[in-house]
Amino acid sequence: MICALALYGQHKGIYREVQAQTLATLQDVALQNKKGAEKELSNTQKLLADITAVIQLRHPNMETETELRNIIPELQRFASTYGFKRMGVILPNGITYTTDNYVYDLSQEEAYLYGMQGLPNITESLRDEIGVADWINVFSRPLYNHSSEVIGVIYAVYHTKSFKELLTVDAFEGEGYSYIINTDGQVVSDSLNAPMYGTTNLLDSLVALDNRNTQTVSELTAAMDSRSSSYATFEASETQYLYYTPLEVESLNTSWYMLTMVPAKVLDSRVAPILQHQNKFLLIIMTAIIIAFVYIIWSYRKDARILHTLAYEDPLTHGDNYAYFLEKLPQTESNGYMVALDLSEFKLINSICGLAKGDLILRAVWDIIRKHLEKDELAAHLTADQYIMYLQAVSKDVLLARLRMICVEISGLAEQYNTVQISPYFGIYQSTGTTNAEESYTRALQAKKLAKDNAQKKWAFYEEVDVASITEKKQLEDHFEDAIAHHEFEVWYQPKYDAHSRTIVGAEALVRWRTGDGTLIPPYRFIPLFERNGMIVTLDEYVFTTVCKQIKEWEMQHKKLLPVSINVSRASLYYEFILERYTEILAQYDVNPSLVPLEVTESATINNQQIQELVERFREAGFPIYLDDFGNGYSSLATLNMMHFDTIKLDKSLVDYIGDANGEKLLHYTIKLAKSLGMKITAEGVETENQVQFLQTLHCDEIQGYFFSKPLPLAEFEQLI
Ligand code: C2E
Ligand code: CA
Ligand code: CA
Repeated sequence: MICALALYGQHKGIYREVQAQTLATLQDVALQNKKGAEKELSNTQKLLADITAVIQLRHPNMETETELRNIIPELQRFASTYGFKRMGVILPNGITYTTDNYVYDLSQEEAYLYGMQGLPNITESLRDEIGVADWINVFSRPLYNHSSEVIGVIYAVYHTKSFKELLTVDAFEGEGYSYIINTDGQVVSDSLNAPMYGTTNLLDSLVALDNRNTQTVSELTAAMDSRSSSYATFEASETQYLYYTPLEVESLNTSWYMLTMVPAKVLDSRVAPILQHQNKFLLIIMTAIIIAFVYIIWSYRKDARILHTLAYEDPLTHGDNYAYFLEKLPQTESNGYMVALDLSEFKLINSICGLAKGDLILRAVWDIIRKHLEKDELAAHLTADQYIMYLQAVSKDVLLARLRMICVEISGLAEQYNTVQISPYFGIYQSTGTTNAEESYTRALQAKKLAKDNAQKKWAFYEEVDVASITEKKQLEDHFEDAIAHHEFEVWYQPKYDAHSRTIVGAEALVRWRTGDGTLIPPYRFIPLFERNGMIVTLDEYVFTTVCKQIKEWEMQHKKLLPVSINVSRASLYYEFILERYTEILAQYDVNPSLVPLEVTESATINNQQIQELVERFREAGFPIYLDDFGNGYSSLATLNMMHFDTIKLDKSLVDYIGDANGEKLLHYTIKLAKSLGMKITAEGVETENQVQFLQTLHCDEIQGYFFSKPLPLAEFEQLI
């Protein structure tokens, strides 16, 4: 009998498990679709931003209609390079000129209406009214003049077809399909295999198709208003499962939603065979067993409940406590996630709002956590604002999507309870079956600390916690001052060569740390650390002094004097006094500032008025200023227009584009633009003859890289000059 009971339990368990897994797969596919679509939309919008920046820089006086129309030939080249159907410019009166030579009125269209208000925009799918009547999306951005007034709108016409291909992922044996709609239900795009349900308004079509869908459509509309994600079902020729989730893309002026669907029979076919066996016989036996057991259980229950409460209930939330959590945690589970959670600034909430309200909030947080638990998942409240969860998810993305929802709901409590911001932090450890529960929890806590220490993070995985490096960092920090005092930091010199004559024309000073036992520590191990704790300010000054002293020595030895550029970190630039310090050091060693150019990065200067002013004062004091690592990440050509640099150093990642047609075009434009603004170009990380030759054709000025020389210790460098 017991056997039968177990069998039945297992049978139901498997059914639910399989169904949950298949729904999770649907969610997984949907989230992948969402990511792909967001990336495509924002990359296309960014591309248009860069094109706009280039046009604006090349045509600084675009005020009149004729001048605006003059940019069309250039747009033609961009449109064909990047595969747009067409591009165009809209004049302030709403008339557009296009790269395929049409002239017509766009004054009633979104691109114009938003653009003239200074807003970028992406439209839903439209039937092209000119040219071939296929489906298009229009990406648009405002054009500005010198005094930042909007003087027109630039746009790119994108083939909806490319989008459809992107959305057509091969999930569920090709039976899954997707739609992107706006909150009115208007179709922005769909996947190639999506069935046509009717008009271009999906929600209207679904209601027209079957009035049982009215309920689903109104749920969906409500969900879209609150920007939430979830499952639903609807009726077409057969029942369909649906997962909906909002798209997050800047420059959308209406909200867009990703709907991923699959016929219910496809998902259910995975579950059905398991159901069909076993059934009837089991049920009869079960009934008999249940009657027998009910009596016995009932008589034990009372006592057990009291014991259980004492041992396993959390007094604050009346939910499970840590002991119960440990007790229930599956011992051999190897694909669950241990998640530690706490709230930032909870002490503040307690002291501002009082303990009673604090407790209310802690209970509300618990309710949210509990509500999100699925079968076989656990959670517990420990003390204060500490919670633990044991969650299961088919992938990290699915897990993070769930944590994001929990996060949003918890943050929402601040408004509900009228208190300061409540933001949860998560540390996640994916158990591999090699650690016991408490060890797993400790790891989740370490990950949580990482998330809390990093302003940009709401969660971190244990894999990101580098245990060895925590110890190493501590040692490096502890020895820093000794190391400065004992001159353990060495300056190495990487020569720079003239791109055409291939003769040496300068060098960059790069620091290394020679520890007491003779080992050489490379900068990537300590610079980021010192940037965070502020020690870099001392180190930068040390390198600067060493180089000035060295230049003075070379001068006394009648060596040829070449400029040696010095890296100044963002952290150093927060201190205005460094200008005074550096000029004092120059005076002390009687060195001309033109011999010690300063390298600063784009991320240090952009968006920080104070640093920009300080850098400008360094320039006025005679230091050449180099923009370091340009092109690393998605840096914007527009930066070049905002500040003047003497030299742009192209990052290795840009140089590595050589050989790729689009990359070479980007390099070509970047160099041309910088040159037109009177800046010189140094290419970094150049490793091959091929790269040298290509850079020569683009009139790059100087080359630094392993092709000519690695960074050299002083003695070796001196042999070159
Ligand atoms: P960085 O300023 O971009 O310096 C160039 C880095 O690229 C150097 O690494 C150099 O060795 C490496 N490099 C040069 N040519 C090639 C090449 O052809 N191929 C490859 N793969 N690499 C090449 P290094 O010396 O390890 O320095 C790393 C970073 O540490 C520097 O990047 C800089 O950001 C920082 N750094 C070094 N010294 C100082 C310093 O005194 N102060 C500050 N604030 N930062 C420094
Ligand atoms: Ca540098
Ligand atoms: Ca660099």
